[in-house]
Amino acid sequence: MAAAWASDAASDESGRETAELLSRLIQINTTNPPGNETAVAHFLRDYFAAHGVEGEVVGEWPERQNFVARLQGSRPGPTLVVMAHMDVVPCEPEQWSQPPFSGLIKDGYVWGRGADDIKNLVAAETVAFLRLAAAGADFAGTLVLAATADEEVGDQCGARWLVQNRPDLVRCDYLLNEGGGEYVEIGGQRTYMLTVGEKGTAQFKLTFQGETGHASVPPHGRNAVAEMARAIKALVEHEPELRFDCVPELLIERLVGDAGLRARLLDPALVRPALAELRAVDVETADLIEPLYGITLVPTIVRAGGEAVNVLASHAEVTVDCRTLPGQTEDDVRREVEAALGGPGAWELEWLGTVAGNDSPVGNDFSRAIDTVIAEAVPGAVAAPMHCVGFTDSNWYRAAFPDVIAYGFGPYIAEDYLATGPRCHNHDERITVRDVGFQAAFVERLVHELLR
Ligand SMILES: [Zn+2]
Repeated sequence: MAAAWASDAASDESGRETAELLSRLIQINTTNPPGNETAVAHFLRDYFAAHGVEGEVVGEWPERQNFVARLQGSRPGPTLVVMAHMDVVPCEPEQWSQPPFSGLIKDGYVWGRGADDIKNLVAAETVAFLRLAAAGADFAGTLVLAATADEEVGDQCGARWLVQNRPDLVRCDYLLNEGGGEYVEIGGQRTYMLTVGEKGTAQFKLTFQGETGHASVPPHGRNAVAEMARAIKALVEHEPELRFDCVPELLIERLVGDAGLRARLLDPALVRPALAELRAVDVETADLIEPLYGITLVPTIVRAGGEAVNVLASHAEVTVDCRTLPGQTEDDVRREVEAALGGPGAWELEWLGTVAGNDSPVGNDFSRAIDTVIAEAVPGAVAAPMHCVGFTDSNWYRAAFPDVIAYGFGPYIAEDYLATGPRCHNHDERITVRDVGFQAAFVERLVHELLR
């Protein structure tokens, strides 16, 4: 049986307060670019003030401010930051069945851009924070809420700026952020994704020089466009070195039903065909785990030549989206590129801004508290640690505060990953009233469990 708090939280009634706050947040358009997060920061400052809590609007650029509120518990203890970003990705309103900034609450859903990424967590964390404040902050330690700017595009003036410029406000022992909490249910067993780390980025541009001249005479030396084409094919077909330390064993255990396939996915000699086998039967799980075996190299932009069809291109360039595991560096990437292209050659590699991946351990008070609270809500459910193949602001916290334990976890109760996953950055973004209400109840309960 689920604990009483969880049964209450799973009702539409309890979700109402959080859903209504979410609706108001959605109505403030924070499409990034340009962001305009200050409007939400001011709204939150006033909302907190109306509930008797003074928060702070902070940041570098006037239109791109963050909001931070701190709540001192009744007893000393560690510091937990609950964080979510206020900006949202652009949308095409004509593709939506409801206006994307209406915040409409209808048929059990809150509709709009940011409903699921990630104003839902801004709302849930706010409701949890203010309930805890109203109840006398009866916990051990400090709770900090950080609603941040600029996650979706620049990472310039949000979480990264806060940890680097205002560590006094956000330095913490534990960070609860977006990036996890979706669940998959197989055979009545529910598995939650607990994001414990993020891959890094090491994007780069490869430039190939070629002979110039009239294209009516085929170049006998170097044709830049042909060199680039060969390189793209080689990069796509290259199999980077396999690593197993970020492969999510518990997730594989719970999501892959075939025991033989499970074993092959953990066997260095058999894993490549095993991944193809998995992809043939379960694309979603394959997408979750395949990038966690190592570096990925994905060409995304090509440029070559000018306007004239009869002029040989002097150079050609391809931009490659490259993701690395924690611990992997530009040197590791360069080695893979050289291996793919047959050694150093007539190409030049230019880095476009590298961010190292990082992660946090499990088997500590934070992960145990999450395990406890989620199992109270859904008996038998487990939180399976995994790395995010993309990027979240948790990275900046781990880089700035080496001892912090940072997880992505905003759990759902009503709709599974197959329903919620495809909505991210998509048309008709929405969340159930039950889910956003549950996220608020979860955060409130987690604070009591962790800050005991
Ligand atoms: Zn997000």
